[in-house]
Amino acid sequence: MNFNVEKIRKDFPILHREVYNKPLVYLDNAATTQKPVQVTEEMNRVYETINSNIHRGVHYLSDMCTGEYEKAREKVARFINAASTNEVIFTSGTTGSVNTVAFSFGETFVSEGDEIIISALEHHSNIVPWQMLCERKKAVLKVIPVNGNGELLMDEYEKLIGPKTRLVAVAHVSNAIGTRNPVERIIEISHNHDVPVLIDGAQSIQHEKIDVQKLDADFFAFSGHKVYGPTGTGVLYGKEEWLEKMTPYQGGGEMISSVSFEKSTYNRLPFKFEAGTPNFAGAIGLAAALDYIDNTGIGNIAEYEKDLTDYAVSKLSQTENLKLIGTPAHRTSVISFLLENIHPYDAGMVIDKMGVAVRTGSHCAEPLMGFFGIRGTIRASLAFYNTRKEIDVLHNAILKVKEMFR
Ligand code: PMP
Repeated sequence: MNFNVEKIRKDFPILHREVYNKPLVYLDNAATTQKPVQVTEEMNRVYETINSNIHRGVHYLSDMCTGEYEKAREKVARFINAASTNEVIFTSGTTGSVNTVAFSFGETFVSEGDEIIISALEHHSNIVPWQMLCERKKAVLKVIPVNGNGELLMDEYEKLIGPKTRLVAVAHVSNAIGTRNPVERIIEISHNHDVPVLIDGAQSIQHEKIDVQKLDADFFAFSGHKVYGPTGTGVLYGKEEWLEKMTPYQGGGEMISSVSFEKSTYNRLPFKFEAGTPNFAGAIGLAAALDYIDNTGIGNIAEYEKDLTDYAVSKLSQTENLKLIGTPAHRTSVISFLLENIHPYDAGMVIDKMGVAVRTGSHCAEPLMGFFGIRGTIRASLAFYNTRKEIDVLHNAILKVKEMFR
C-alpha cells in the first residue's frame, strides 16, 4: 500500500492541536471531517485573488471566477464519473440535495396514493423531506426494515416495491452504525420495476470509489464537509433524463432564462437547480478536496481505513461490558457502542476530557435507535488520518470511564 499516514497528518493542522492539554484525537469524522491545507489555501486564494460574482459579470475577475467554478463542476463530474456536467448540481450539502429531489421529483412525478420507499437506518435528512412530500401529496412512506445486526432485510424490500412505488431513497452507508448497504442490488431490483433510486452518499463518498454510471444510481447526494472539503457545499448528481423533466426547487437569479411578470422560463441544466449566487469559493475548495483524495488514492484510503476499522472493532469488541450497536457483515469506519449501565452522554464527557472527540446521541437516526430500543450510542468514526495509536487512546479512555462509573 502506497500510504504514509504521518505524511498525510502533516497536511491537517488541526490534528496537531491539544484539547485539555492533551493531544487531540479526532474520531468524529462522520459528523464532519478536517480540512487539509490544500483546501484552506485554495479557498484563501479564491478570496484573495479572484473573488467576484460568477456567471453574470463581463469583467476579468468574474470571468476567472466563473471559469474556476465550472472547472470545479468538471472535477466533481470526473470524480463520480457522471456522464456530463449537466448532471452535477452544487447544493449546500446532502440535506440540500435530498430536499431538492424530494420537492422537484415529488412535484413532477408523485400523486395521491403513490409510494416512496426509504429504509429503517436513514439519517433524518433522508426521512423528513420524504415525509413532507408524502404529506403534501397524500402519498405513502414505506420503510425497509433491518435485522438485529443493523442490515436491511432485502426480502422485505422486494415485497414493498410495487406498481405504486415512485422512488426509493436509501443511504449507501449508515452514519449511525456504519452498515454498508447493498445499494447495487437495491438499484437492480428497483430498476426491474422501472423505479428510480436516490443514494444518500454522505457516508460513502469519502471511503470508496463512487462511479455513478457503474452504480446506475438515478440520484446521488453528498456533502463537501464530510469529504475533507468546505462546509456549506454539496452535490446532487442526477441523471439528465430525470433532471430535465423535474420542476425547479427554488426560484431566483441564475435559474431562469427569461423573466416577465406574466411568465418566466427556466435556464438549462445544471443552472435550473442553482438559484441565487452559489457558494463558488466552496465549490472550488471542494474540487481541491477531491484532488487531494485523488492524489492520495481512494483505493489506498479504503485499504488503510479497513485495516484501522478492523483493529478498532476487534479491540472494542474484546472490551468487557462494551456492546457494539450494529454488527453488519459489511461496514465502513463508523463504530457505535454502549457501555453497560453508563449513559452515553456521561461516557462521552469523560472520553472528551481525555482529548478524544467522539459523538454521543441518536446521530440524527432516532427511528433506528428506537428499533434497537435505545436513546443513543457512543460513536467513533474514523478517517484516513487516524492511527492505531489513537484507537489505543480511545480504548484507554473507555477503560477510564468504566473505572469511574464502577
Ligand atoms: N445523510 C447521512 C447518512 C449523513 O451522515 C448526514 C450527515 N450526518 C446527512 C445525510 C446530512 O448531511 P448534511 O448535514 O451535510 O446535509
